[in-house]
Amino acid sequence: MRVVGEVFPFRVNSYVIDELIDWERVPNDPLFQLTFPQPGMLEPDDFLRIASLIRMDAPRTQIAAAVGKIHETLNPHPAGQLDDNVPVLDGQRLWGLQHKYRETVLFFPKQGQTCHAFCTYCFRWAQFIGQDELRIATDANGDLLRYLESRPEVTDLLVTGGDPMVMRTALLERFLEPLIQPELAHVQNIRIGTKALAYWPQRFVTDEDADSLLRLFEKLVAAGKHVAIMAHFSHIREMQTPMVQEAIRRIQSTGAVLRGQSPVVSHVNDRAEIWSDLWREQVRQGVVPYYMFVPRNTGSRRYFGVPLVKAWTIFRDAFSSVSGLGRTVRGPSMSAAPGKVEVLGVTEVAGQQAFVLRLLQSRKPEWVDRPFFAKFDPDAMWLDELQPLTGDRFFFE
Ligand SMILES: *Cc1c(COP(=O)(O)O)cnc(C)c1O
Ligand code: SF4
Repeated sequence: MRVVGEVFPFRVNSYVIDELIDWERVPNDPLFQLTFPQPGMLEPDDFLRIASLIRMDAPRTQIAAAVGKIHETLNPHPAGQLDDNVPVLDGQRLWGLQHKYRETVLFFPKQGQTCHAFCTYCFRWAQFIGQDELRIATDANGDLLRYLESRPEVTDLLVTGGDPMVMRTALLERFLEPLIQPELAHVQNIRIGTKALAYWPQRFVTDEDADSLLRLFEKLVAAGKHVAIMAHFSHIREMQTPMVQEAIRRIQSTGAVLRGQSPVVSHVNDRAEIWSDLWREQVRQGVVPYYMFVPRNTGSRRYFGVPLVKAWTIFRDAFSSVSGLGRTVRGPSMSAAPGKVEVLGVTEVAGQQAFVLRLLQSRKPEWVDRPFFAKFDPDAMWLDELQPLTGDRFFFE
């Protein structure tokens, strides 16, 4: 843990340790794999190099230099996570906002750029160790509201992180309450992406400002907004403690809607039964299954990555074993440069094996929902490893 913890961020809390991890099943326990650094996350040579530096008590600068070299090999900045699609208002780039899809603006509040515990497979790992400083405007509040006002086509605001639920209610209020103004009536849907239900459900139940948070949701709902809590659940066990079930009930009592989304990850949830159990439990508790993601091409993909064909097989087997109420989920989906690319399946086209894909969401609305084909590749894990079935480029290239 010390060796891998030098390279990747590590953070865990008492709730994850006491309530989620099954210590009888460590190291294979999925919740242990989800939060504790694993030796397989590093290439064996890299692991040995850092281990020997630690063992010989090497100076910090020497360890940092070796770690920095490893970081460079791990694609720390996939697809310009925060630098692409930054909107411009009055000639100024508005850092902390991202506007990629016409109807939805992403908002990264500065104080929400951390999490209660860290997922080992985190796609924002580089930011959590101080690399790729989040470019968040200091006056994000005013910028956000002015930008939304200037864009009547925006129906959705998606607050994301890190985890915006690490923020105090008072701060969230400053960002969210102004959305009630009549000038922002076009912003109908407020989504909050969070892992707090899994890692710290106390946020909605016993934290000092849990009640005021629920009042804030109520107020937004009463003002006619659709409030959606986009809950990151990787495994059914995260939904089974009394605390999380109480948190879900309390959120629902405000009129807010819960939706579930998560990546499919080796060692954590790479079996179809895990997903069908998860979706069934979500339906039972009134959480709408929404997305299964393919993990981005960053960090320890050697350890967590799942080939696209396997992700699709897991998705199909799970999807076909739940009732229609669970089939609101879409995926497996890659959030890539052209948009969200869904793997619809593997088939044969004129005698050639092929992936069938479509864009669920795209920079260009006219690209959405057009099936297209790629050559089948059993090892491919991401869009950039796929070749078009015919011709030398995909239609969006
Ligand atoms: C996923 C995503 C959204 C939301 O897309 P929906 O299809 O509306 O859920 C918005 N912006 C970005 C950059 C995204 O990746
Ligand atoms: S909840 Fe999301 S941002 Fe936070 S550690 Fe997990 S993957 Fe990273």
